[in-house]
Amino acid sequence: MSGTTAWLIRGAKVLAEDGWDDGAVLAVVAGRIAYRGDLRALPRRLEVAGTEVGRQSLEEIQAEGGYLCPGFVDIHVHGGGGADVMDASPGALRQIARTHARHGTVALLATTVSAPYEHVRRVMEAVQETSDGLDEGSEILGVHLEGPHLSPRRAGAQNPEYLTPPDPRELEALMERFPGLLAMVTLAPELDGASELIELLHRSGVVPAVGHSDATYEQAVEAFQHGAQHAVHTFNGMNPLHHRAPGVPGAVITTRPVTAELIADGFHVHPGVARLLWQVKGPDRLVLVTDAMRATDLPDGRYELGGLEVEVHAGAARLAGSETLAGSTLTLERAVRWMANEVGVPLADAVRLASQNPARRLGLGDRLGSLEVGKDGSVVLLDGELRVRLTLHQGWVLYDGQGSEYDEAEAERSQDALGDGPAAAGGLGAEPEAEPSASVLARMEHEEEL
Ligand SMILES: [Zn+2]
Repeated sequence: MSGTTAWLIRGAKVLAEDGWDDGAVLAVVAGRIAYRGDLRALPRRLEVAGTEVGRQSLEEIQAEGGYLCPGFVDIHVHGGGGADVMDASPGALRQIARTHARHGTVALLATTVSAPYEHVRRVMEAVQETSDGLDEGSEILGVHLEGPHLSPRRAGAQNPEYLTPPDPRELEALMERFPGLLAMVTLAPELDGASELIELLHRSGVVPAVGHSDATYEQAVEAFQHGAQHAVHTFNGMNPLHHRAPGVPGAVITTRPVTAELIADGFHVHPGVARLLWQVKGPDRLVLVTDAMRATDLPDGRYELGGLEVEVHAGAARLAGSETLAGSTLTLERAVRWMANEVGVPLADAVRLASQNPARRLGLGDRLGSLEVGKDGSVVLLDGELRVRLTLHQGWVLYDGQGSEYDEAEAERSQDALGDGPAAAGGLGAEPEAEPSASVLARMEHEEEL
C-alpha cells in the first residue's frame, strides 16, 4: 500500500460520536471521508469535492478486528527518531514527522525549547520550507514556542541560560515574517509584561498557553481571563497543588474552559493524578501530548536537549546526573494505551483526548479529530492490543505496519526487565502491557462499571 487512492476500510469497530460502531465501514475518497456506516448501505458511487468514484474501484483494507480511530494530533513534540526541532533543518523535521506517523500521529506542532530568537527564526524557516510535500510523515501544522519567556524557578529541562523576560516586539516580528506559522506560545504569566503578550497572541489567533510557571492561583486565573486558555503539561514544570496555595494546577483544575495537557507516560504524572485531571476536565478539555524528544523510538543512552545533556534510562529521559525529567520518549500510541489500561479511561474517550481535543484546541476541528463524512481521510487503525497497524492522512498511507526501524514491543519488554529504575521504585513504572488488569486503577474503573 502506498500513495493516495480511494480506500474502503472494513472489519474494525469505528469510532462514532456516540461510541464504537461495530459493523461500520469507512470510505476515503480524494483525501476525505466519503462514507461511514453499514456496508450494505454503501452507495454505488461516492462523490467528494468534485471527485466521483465507483464502489468497485475502492481498494479494500481488511482490518481483522481492532479499532478505527481519527488520526492523532500532537500539539507538543520536540523530536523523535534522533532528530530535534531545534536542529532547524527540513531533514530533521521530516524524520520527526515520519517517526510519529508510525505511532498514529497525522499532524503535529513542531515545538521549540528556550533559545535565542535568532535560533527560533531558523526553526521557523525550516518549518516553512518543509510545509509541503510531507507525504510520508505527520503534517506539520505550525510551531509551538515553549519559551523563552518562562520562570527560572520552574525551568525543568529548559536551559536557564536562554530564559528572557516577555518581549512583544520579537513575537510581533515573528508573526509578521511567518504569517500563520505560529500556533502556540507557552509562557509564565507571572513575568512582567506577560499579560500584554497573552493579549497580543490571543488577538493574533495564536494560542497563549501557561507553562513552566510559578504563578499564584490568582495570577494564573488572571492569565486565563486575559485569554490564555491552555495549560502545558499540567503538573509538570509548575508549582505543586497545595491546599493553602493551589498555584497553577489549582487554577487549571478550577477554570472550566481551560484545556489541560497531560504527558501520559507513567513517569511524569502518577496514574491517580492523571485520573483526577480526567475526572475534572472530562472528555472535552483534556489533551494528551508526548513532549517527545530526540530519543523517541531510539534505544536508551545519552542525548541532547536544548544544549543540555539528557540520559535516557528505561525509556525515561532525565537531565544527566539529576532526577529532572527532560521531555519524554512517549508516542501518542502509548499515551492512549496508558490512559485506557492504567488510568481506566474508556478507550473511545482516550482516543478523543489524542485527536478531537487537540484538533479543536487549534481550531482545526472542522477537518481533523473525528471520523465524520467530509473531514480529512486521516485515520489510525489500532489492533486489539491497541498497537498502531495503519496511519492514513488525507488518504495517504503514512504507515502500514511495515518497516518500523524500532520494535516498541521489544523495548517495552527490556524496560520491564530493567524494572528498578527510579520511576519504577516510586511505583510509577509502566505496568507490563500484557497485564493491563494488574493496574489497581483499571480494576477500580471496572468495578464501578459493574
Ligand atoms: Zn516541551
